[in-house]
Amino acid sequence: MYKLNDKIKNLTPYEPLKGEYKIRLDANESFKVLPKNIQDDVNSNLEKLSINRYPDPMADALCENFSKFYGVKKEHVVASNGSDELISLIFTGFLMKGETFATLENDFSMYRFYGELSECKSVLISKDKNFEIDIDLCVEICKNSNVKLLIFSNPCNPTSVGIKKDDVLKIASSLEDTLVIADEAYMDFWDESVLHDYENYPNLLVLKTCSKAFGMAGIRAGFAVGNKMLINAIKAFKSPYNLDSYAQCIAGTVFSYKDECVSAINEIIDSTKELQVMLDKFDGFEDVEVLKSSTNFVVMKTKYSVEIYEYMLKNSVAIRCFKSFIRVTAGSKEENAEFNKYLTEFFTSKGWK
Ligand SMILES: *Cc1c(COP(=O)(O)O)cnc(C)c1O
Repeated sequence: MYKLNDKIKNLTPYEPLKGEYKIRLDANESFKVLPKNIQDDVNSNLEKLSINRYPDPMADALCENFSKFYGVKKEHVVASNGSDELISLIFTGFLMKGETFATLENDFSMYRFYGELSECKSVLISKDKNFEIDIDLCVEICKNSNVKLLIFSNPCNPTSVGIKKDDVLKIASSLEDTLVIADEAYMDFWDESVLHDYENYPNLLVLKTCSKAFGMAGIRAGFAVGNKMLINAIKAFKSPYNLDSYAQCIAGTVFSYKDECVSAINEIIDSTKELQVMLDKFDGFEDVEVLKSSTNFVVMKTKYSVEIYEYMLKNSVAIRCFKSFIRVTAGSKEENAEFNKYLTEFFTSKGWK
């Protein structure tokens, strides 16, 4: 009888929160929808597609617009079916079975998932109680454990805390024989990017996504930026038509509206600041600690994480709950206000004044 192998037999499908909620602040998506003029342009470009034909295997036009947007060279960019696909590809391509990779704890859970699925050994590097890492210790652990690949999000999902650019570069230069991957899914909300440093750091790869700052989680498009050897390798081991024509067309069109994208990002940053203030007022109450966000979401450490989560769901507001903290995505003004109202109700019921 056919049996599933050990590495997959206990896996279950990824399940985001099910059900209908009035307010979704749980997935770090953008609350912005495309302005009418851009949506019209997208629609008219979509009409021109010949869907009986395969898509461009290298998503050339999209990479061109991405490169212009960020001021990087197109030869240093490869596109993927969401950055999630890239994470998976990177493990299968750059690592051999049994080799060791490192990631941080807490960090984005997919790193460990794909790494272990590729039959590689994981080393978890702990963060301190403020969710920060000791750079020297991180380098030392990677050296001692013969780590071939180090991957982390910066700024970090789920903690909202970032690592400064100089520290990331220090890691990369100290670990010359290790592939160092900075997943900058949220870097559009902060200012410590290493996206332009590929010339001097040949072992550094940066991942980007359309799902957060650009409000296109519904199409799947992500990118890797790095030195040509790395980018050409990914181009060679990815599947030929990994990004469909629709996604290429939509993302390519949106990236060509630079001013509009930048202004949408600024609105998200403002919304995050507003949400930060709303949460900060509970800082210090019964060990509540609110972290300073470098992303589009705010993290509150509290023993009440599960209770708050359930209270919000009851009021049709979805947030993310972790063991010792909640993670709340910045929403529209109205959404933030509604969340704030319920959170204040909750803490008032616990004696906060
Ligand atoms: C959301 C997220 C991604 C996934 O991006 P997709 O392009 O939607 O696959 C990758 N990395 C981090 C850290 C994220 O939070």
